[in-house]
Amino acid sequence: MNNPYYVLGYDIGGTKVAICLAVCNELNEDGALIPARIIASKRIPGGSKQGPDTAVPQMKEAGAELLKENGVEIKDLRAVGVCAPGPLDVLSGEMLVSPNMPLWDRVPIVKELENYFEVPVKFENDANGAVLAEYLFGTARGKKNAVYLTMSTGVGAGVIVNGQLVTGHSGQAGELGHNILDINGPQCGCGMYGCFEAFCGGKSFEDRAKAAARADENHPLRSIEVIDGDIDKLCVRVIRDAAIAGHEEAKKWWDEFCMRLAQGIGIAMMTFNPEIVVLGTIAIHSQELLLNPVREYLPRFAWKEMRNDCEIEPSILGTKIGELAGVAVALYTD
Ligand SMILES: [Zn+2]
Repeated sequence: MNNPYYVLGYDIGGTKVAICLAVCNELNEDGALIPARIIASKRIPGGSKQGPDTAVPQMKEAGAELLKENGVEIKDLRAVGVCAPGPLDVLSGEMLVSPNMPLWDRVPIVKELENYFEVPVKFENDANGAVLAEYLFGTARGKKNAVYLTMSTGVGAGVIVNGQLVTGHSGQAGELGHNILDINGPQCGCGMYGCFEAFCGGKSFEDRAKAAARADENHPLRSIEVIDGDIDKLCVRVIRDAAIAGHEEAKKWWDEFCMRLAQGIGIAMMTFNPEIVVLGTIAIHSQELLLNPVREYLPRFAWKEMRNDCEIEPSILGTKIGELAGVAVALYTD
């Protein structure tokens, strides 16, 4: 006899909180076990920007509503998972204040939700949630050694080794985005210089391109046709497309992006010997335009013994990954 049960997943983002209800442990028509199936989701607009006094009560209410609307009794709820942008105090279950979360100073989100739902509440940063989502539902399914890089505004990273999420002594491990690739490199949002994210985070890449173009009225990036002289339109996609079309300066920028991404992936390969590296947003939009040059550069950064065994793939979960991350955190047991 199998007993289906339910989990709720929360993904706290800068502009919204996504909540997702999943049923777990069902059998399909052939009697095979389905680990988890998403049955409903909701979004609360506002997210972390509006502060905990407003957001936390809304999160409780919306979770309870989602259960009610789907006929789920609270006794059938087994666990809740919460993902949020770091830094977090995972051990105490508290959100910490940061430039992205200025109002969330030591907010005991785990205790708040545990008291409300009376089930275990698990808590991870969003990149760790994302690697768990890839591992349970996505491109890394069935692979016990996986690295996930968000490749969006920043380079968030999550690592699974031998089927276990790598968390480290105080829950901070796996910050591959802040490995230093060049001590003389550009300053990162974290304050250090030459981080992987300073080269390959979408925001940092775009900020650097815009600053370079602004500093020189004859800068060749200004001549990219599609921006029509508007430096604010320089972005990863525009520079990539101009590079592919043969724009010489754009080619230099895109080539550096691909080389630094290969360097970052090479470090991950040499450190963790993964069987798959899954890449988020920019890779989902760029596919082989990004992956081919990265694969060409990789022999400079990782042994063939590591490369031969390791796929590099864009995420198939796409924008759904946030919702699934909360559910994955709820389901994951170490
Ligand atoms: Zn950094």
